[in-house]
Amino acid sequence: MKKIQMSTPLVEMDGDEMTRILWKIIKEELLLPYIDLKTEYYDLGLVHRNETDDKVTVDAANAAKKYGVAVKCATITPNKARMEEYHLKKMYKSPNGTIRAIMDGTVFRAPIVVKGIEPCVKNWKMPITLARHAYGDVYKNTEMYIDGPGDAYLVFEGENGEKKKELIQHFDGSGVLQGMHNLDASITSFARCCFNYALDTRQNLWLGAKDTISKTYDGRFKEIFAEIYEKEFKEKFEAAGLEYFYSLIDDIVARVMKSQGGFIWACKNYDGDVMSDMVSSAFGSLAMMTSVLVSPDGNYEYEAAHGTVQRHYYRHLEGKETSTNSVATIFAWTGALRKRGELDSNSQLMDFADKLEKATLGTIESGKMTKDLALITSLKHVTVLNSRDFILAIKDRLEKML
Ligand code: NAP
Ligand code: MG
Repeated sequence: MKKIQMSTPLVEMDGDEMTRILWKIIKEELLLPYIDLKTEYYDLGLVHRNETDDKVTVDAANAAKKYGVAVKCATITPNKARMEEYHLKKMYKSPNGTIRAIMDGTVFRAPIVVKGIEPCVKNWKMPITLARHAYGDVYKNTEMYIDGPGDAYLVFEGENGEKKKELIQHFDGSGVLQGMHNLDASITSFARCCFNYALDTRQNLWLGAKDTISKTYDGRFKEIFAEIYEKEFKEKFEAAGLEYFYSLIDDIVARVMKSQGGFIWACKNYDGDVMSDMVSSAFGSLAMMTSVLVSPDGNYEYEAAHGTVQRHYYRHLEGKETSTNSVATIFAWTGALRKRGELDSNSQLMDFADKLEKATLGTIESGKMTKDLALITSLKHVTVLNSRDFILAIKDRLEKML
């Protein structure tokens, strides 16, 4: 077979630990034999981030903006233990945070649905994609403990001299106070990312907030989404037969539980934090969650939602066998290859991505899987494979399909 050609490179961001090991095997066994793979390679492994004072992360994010499509391996976010382990010059920020800030994007997480791994919610048949607004609210709050009686106010002093002041509460005794904010610009770009991604993936979009109680703050999310929808997206949604709707967050939660899935759920920052863990664990496994960062101007970065699987890596370093699930990392590659194919009108590349995904799901459905899935599958006859053999089993199937 002649290798599939690419006209534009993918931005490839390599990473750390066990996922770095999987990354290499996936490339060697599932990609390079079939594709004349063009990538612009950035090594985001912690060693190289330290050598470049983290400049490599910034360069990689800018390359993603330049080329439009990136694929990223999981990376270590340094903490104190990692500082010592890797002799770091400083405690670098989370690479995902840095990339997200540069691309100004929203993260969409969706489970990979496969026969044999049943969601806890039995009526969920299709994936639920969760979009979390990653700015402001309680994550950028100011808090105070009040230890005696007094008046608490919310005060704004405009640069033009305007002054607003409202009583929050008269305290008779001790208690707590919290100040939060959000920005129209951030909510607006969140809204655009959500509408674009809904069109892109042909799914309805749901937004939930609590504007009956928080008329100004949560109300602002409802207003901005409605405005952007009317002005920029209504016609496109109607033409595509798609729907956008807003409802109260509690009503949305009830609808989600009763739904069949197959839509995008846009959440404010805190709701997204909590609900994404609920949705992903109810779907079965963190190792089966994909994640894509989408910028409002249409740049994409694909990755697995899980981390570098440190515990497995240490087993690997001790020379012990591992059975680490590579599915979400494979789907990061297929997502990126398909998007690259779409942008370059390269149908061969898109077709290859489809086949690699089918081969991956088919392998699991035939009973061959890694240990994490074997523990939760409803299939009767299961063969547990090690990290490499699972990828080789996928390759076997893929070869038959090509
Ligand atoms: P993790 O890498 O997601 O792993 C947590 C546990 O989940 C593993 O120990 C394993 O359980 C299970 N698991 C996760 N992915 C798996 C897979 N593909 N196959 C099989 N089992 C899987 O989270 P962590 O151990 O808390 O974090 C490790 C490092 O990853 C940290 O340095 C963190 O900063 C980083 N991280 C990076 C990203 C990212 O780049 N997007 C995201 C999260 C965390 P068992 O050990 O029980 O088998
Ligand atoms: Mg969380």
